[in-house]
Amino acid sequence: MSHGNRTPHPRRRATPRHPVSPLGVPRLRALWRHQAAEANGPGGFHHVHGPHTHGWLLDDAVPELLEPVLHPEDDPLEPTFFASLDGPLAEALLARLAPARLAHRTNGSPPLRSLLRAAAEHPDDVRLHGYVLGPGRCDERIVAEGAVVRFEADLLVTEQHTPDCECELLWAYAVDELGLGDAVHAPHRIHPLQRADAPGETWWRLLWA
Ligand SMILES: [Zn+2]
Ligand SMILES: [Zn+2]
Repeated sequence: MSHGNRTPHPRRRATPRHPVSPLGVPRLRALWRHQAAEANGPGGFHHVHGPHTHGWLLDDAVPELLEPVLHPEDDPLEPTFFASLDGPLAEALLARLAPARLAHRTNGSPPLRSLLRAAAEHPDDVRLHGYVLGPGRCDERIVAEGAVVRFEADLLVTEQHTPDCECELLWAYAVDELGLGDAVHAPHRIHPLQRADAPGETWWRLLWA
């Protein structure tokens, strides 16, 4: 993520820390509206690189869908992270996001569409994590950096992928069963994790970052 050519932007200092939502308007939509208006206004900050959409995240019901998994930063130019994006939310996003948004990929990951599909079609076995760059950002987007996948196997997976590393078995499952084969390459990092809400289950993080 580059911040080259960023110049001080006096209007940013006037940003209220907690925008007031008109009655009935969810906080995230109000916040993003505010960010889009600032960016599209005469004093808006613009990075040298676009596409400068500044507001597509307000389309349709996207803020309402994402609100439960996002905890926006006060700084509109910082990423907002999400975790545990689950099957029903993935299915809703697939139905709402335009094809160009779903085609986006990061760091050699599968396209967002494939990750959302994996979560939607395997709701008991896949969660997604990543971040959102809000309408204040010139590169406004939803980024899925990886998936957390249930795979009940006692694999040896080593950080340095030594010759005895068995991560290929997990990646083969992700490709064959979860449909993640349109990644540019296998994840940069694979490691097991315990989910507090799923004790006794074996989950693995596949991360492109
Ligand atoms: Zn811009
Ligand atoms: Zn390995």
